[in-house]
Amino acid sequence: MTSKPVVVETVRELKALTSAFRSEKARIALVPTMGALHAGHMALVRRAQEVAEKVVVSIFVNPTQFGPTEDFSRYPRTFDADFEKLSELGADAIYAPDAAEMYPRGFSTRITMSGPADGLESDFRPQFFAGVATVVGKLFIRCAPDFAAFGEKDYQQLKVVTRLSKDLDLGVEIVPVPTTREPDGLALSSRNAYLSAEERAIAPVIYTALKSAALNIRGGATPVDAAQKAADTITAKGLKVDYVAARHAETLAPLSGAEGEPIRLLAAAWLGGTRLIDNIGV
Ligand code: AMP
Repeated sequence: MTSKPVVVETVRELKALTSAFRSEKARIALVPTMGALHAGHMALVRRAQEVAEKVVVSIFVNPTQFGPTEDFSRYPRTFDADFEKLSELGADAIYAPDAAEMYPRGFSTRITMSGPADGLESDFRPQFFAGVATVVGKLFIRCAPDFAAFGEKDYQQLKVVTRLSKDLDLGVEIVPVPTTREPDGLALSSRNAYLSAEERAIAPVIYTALKSAALNIRGGATPVDAAQKAADTITAKGLKVDYVAARHAETLAPLSGAEGEPIRLLAAAWLGGTRLIDNIGV
């Protein structure tokens, strides 16, 4: 079934729409995105449709989560194509505020987090999780969804927003969705569009190196050694590694070494001017 999603741009319209959904006793799932939608986002929408009767997709390239030298201005913006994809899937609504609607003049609040936000991405993008937590907090308050779908592709972000919803009693159940990959293993990302053909051919090394590291850990290697080996493999292909790390899969704390501790391997690396991230369970 295809139907056109309703597009709303203001918080007033969004609240009117979500109250109408609620008066029909529909549960609402929110799928927060920055647009430039690909099959990974589509998997989130499908999962959201499984858990709720109404699905709202937000499209907002959030300036506050980008650092001053990052790719905010060149980040792909493809609203018409996004609208078509969401129409095909039968998403119910698109919330596409502009920056002035999200951050009116005089905006002075920032949600900062520790716990799962500590280290990893925060070591290299110090502004990132405050930007994410603040905008996701606002989206949750504005939309008041029952559920919100987030991709495992951004695993630290998934853990951060899960913590945020609990800590601020936002009452939104976070629904994790596995990473959608290209046939050669590369995790789908809007930033893959930046890669040259040569870089695109090399990019799957992050995933293959993480897979080998997971195998090595299961085979008895220490997580530190396995992560170092993966970093060496990625570096040998010409990427510049920000981190390859083994962390507790739920808290993202450094491993304690306890027997049976759940482990997640996470990596970030630069391929030319493009920063790629990926992660897998062990
Ligand atoms: P973005 O538009 O990149 O901010 O991502 C919006 C949402 O889509 C986040 O929850 C991401 O984790 C998720 N996402 C992005 N890429 C993928 C992917 N390859 N597989 C699954 N989820 C993804």
